Amino acid sequence: MSYSPRWMNPELESFRDAVRRFIAAEIIPHQERWKQQQHVDRDVWDKAGEMGILLADISEQYGGSGGTFAHQVIVFEELTTAGDMCFGLHVHAIVAHYLLNQGTEQQKQTYLPQLASGAMIAAIAMTEPGAGSDLQGIRTTAVLDGNEYVINGSKTFISNGYLADLIVVVAKTDPALGAKGTSLMLVETKNLAGFKVGRILEKIGQKGQDTCELFFDNVRIPADNILGEKAGSGFFQLMAELPYERAIIAVSGVAAVERALALTVAHTRERKVFGKPLIEMQNTRFVLAEIKTEAMVARVFLDHCIEALIAGKLDTVTASMAKYWITDLQCSAIDRCLQLFGGYGYMMEYPIAQMFADARVQRIYGGANEIMKEIIARSL
Ligand SMILES: Cc1cc2nc3c(=O)[nH]c(=O)nc-3n(C[C@H](O)[C@H](O)[C@H](O)COP(=O)(O)OP(=O)(O)OC[C@H]3O[C@@H](n4cnc5c(N)ncnc54)[C@H](O)[C@@H]3O)c2cc1C
Repeated sequence: MSYSPRWMNPELESFRDAVRRFIAAEIIPHQERWKQQQHVDRDVWDKAGEMGILLADISEQYGGSGGTFAHQVIVFEELTTAGDMCFGLHVHAIVAHYLLNQGTEQQKQTYLPQLASGAMIAAIAMTEPGAGSDLQGIRTTAVLDGNEYVINGSKTFISNGYLADLIVVVAKTDPALGAKGTSLMLVETKNLAGFKVGRILEKIGQKGQDTCELFFDNVRIPADNILGEKAGSGFFQLMAELPYERAIIAVSGVAAVERALALTVAHTRERKVFGKPLIEMQNTRFVLAEIKTEAMVARVFLDHCIEALIAGKLDTVTASMAKYWITDLQCSAIDRCLQLFGGYGYMMEYPIAQMFADARVQRIYGGANEIMKEIIARSL
């Protein structure tokens, strides 16, 4: 039985073709160099902006391409299917949705068109050396001084940190109030006194995607650059936007399982062991049959989440189920596929090896999978 998601249509198919051609021409040829330098070239953002894929699901009123979440899903699927884990579009799109859903009209008009064109690259800085899963423990502060906020603190593991022009920084505006004293600050980094990007961290995978430390030493930003209308809304805003982030992690997860399966079917058809193709061994057939089944189950559940998100109804618990279950599956399926490549699976020149290294962090960022289970458990 061939399966096509209910949210697909002919217009999206031609959009998919165009995205695929863009990635083949503008991303894949540069990947190895990007991995060496640990970040993409700035100009790929401008090209992707011209192509209209940076904010595919944001209305034209704010410079976006006027599509739905389905358009953005296609971009993420195609990046994964092409084997790209360098281009940091995920956090860029996440920040755009913080602005769209939580920002003031002025903030949307100021920033969204620049994020859509690639004139600005976005990052979001929650994690600190002393606080990741437990965000209530963050120590970065933003203290009001006249008509400015003064930010002090440090962040770590920030995707796009090296190139970002706009960073949403999670800070305590009133440490005495705990979660209710947390706010999201819109920090423009260009020529910003007191702001420093630390080293690009060396990772086991996703090597062309810059992940950085950030330092804020009496950084001053206008008081209007608090996201939304009032201070203290930060935790509410984070909770409201997490389903989008978790859904797109799951989108990449399913696309990766499907790619790993296709690569492994092709390899085991080619590879001969004991005088016959590896795919004719019962173990190979059973392993691949299991992964194909799991990929289909994941795909159908993910499509349910995509439809819910398009309708504005994806809740945190369901998004957490998708994030945890699909990224666990991604790691386990790629591991089983790699085994069928034998020693070749351990060689970086084989895409399955790269996929193995790239996948691991999917279970950690966007909220560790254990945190997803905590959230789901609270709904029992
Ligand atoms: C490549 C990469 C990119 C990232 N990009 C960003 C980014 O752009 N912006 C950003 O803000 N952050 C980013 N992060 C940070 C990421 O979100 C955190 O690493 C993650 O939230 C976990 O926090 P931590 O590393 O401090 O681990 P900790 O909070 O120390 O947790 C360690 C482990 O403890 C376990 N654990 C924690 N809490 C519980 C619990 N309540 N119950 C049971 N087990 C628990 C989990 O297994 C968890 O993995 C990125 C991380 C990586 C590796």
